[in-house]
Amino acid sequence: MRTRVRAWQWHLPVVSMLLVMGSASAQDHVSAQGLLEGSGFPVDYDAVEFRLTPVAGRVHMLSGAGGNIGVFVGDDGVFLVDGQFAPLTERIVAEIASVSDDPVRFLINTHFHGDHTGGNENFSRAGALIIAHDNTRRTLAQPHYIEMIQTRFRAFGPLALPAVTFKTSMSLNLGGERVDVIHAPPSHMDGDSVVFFRGSNVIHMGDIYRSRGQPIFDRNNGGSYEGLIAASDFVLNLMGEDTLIVPGHGQLSTRADLEEVRSIMATVRDRIQAGIDAGNSVEEIVASDPSRGFDWRDGRLTVAETVRWIYTELAGR
Ligand SMILES: [Zn+2]
Repeated sequence: MRTRVRAWQWHLPVVSMLLVMGSASAQDHVSAQGLLEGSGFPVDYDAVEFRLTPVAGRVHMLSGAGGNIGVFVGDDGVFLVDGQFAPLTERIVAEIASVSDDPVRFLINTHFHGDHTGGNENFSRAGALIIAHDNTRRTLAQPHYIEMIQTRFRAFGPLALPAVTFKTSMSLNLGGERVDVIHAPPSHMDGDSVVFFRGSNVIHMGDIYRSRGQPIFDRNNGGSYEGLIAASDFVLNLMGEDTLIVPGHGQLSTRADLEEVRSIMATVRDRIQAGIDAGNSVEEIVASDPSRGFDWRDGRLTVAETVRWIYTELAGR
């Protein structure tokens, strides 16, 4: 009974917001994602299916649309890593209610991208304290642009902005477990954080690591390909042999999975660099398929685009 009451109290502000927003029309999409120009992150909200997976200790992974959510169940509150999209908040809260009847007290943003921060305002209204790196708040506080999806977003309002920020790292002590939030080297962008649940031995890497497809780096917001390799090394040094990884996108992973992705990134870099050293043009290098043999694939971003960006970065050194 206690679960039911608490969950309903929690839902009230969210339900009223969703009623105001209505269902998934084009205008709602513009509103929900704060679009000023461009199409943002395409989501069919009605078709989203959630999956809540126990990871280890007190940590669960919640997959839906957008970045994977880390769910830490403390003794007296829930701590979330990323919050996906605003129209999904009510369903996210319902999923969390299956493992805890306590409120969400803290929400970390691993970085500013809307598929990780869209739920900020809803969670903030419901009482959660939002935490992020200084650069994440700085970016969200003003209109911001993501070149790779050619979308400009409006500035987040005061309630949606992280209330607590940090420069290098910070720690939370929740129910006897220490949780470290650590700024990683510039990689997916300049404000990437990883969240290390020391007691549960789980690390959430945000979009520094994806378990499938090609690596993604947000060049016009401080990201780089070499940075992704360096940040992978940073996390490999931080984690233990048995630490489990919640990726920004993809499947629950192990140290060996991260080592493999790091190795693939280095191999592709070396192939592109060899082409540059041989005096080949960017299109010759694209045609040589430097990610051959690996799981890189065309999606919204094509493999060719990614290779061109890596070329530009390496050729400009
Ligand atoms: Zn991202």
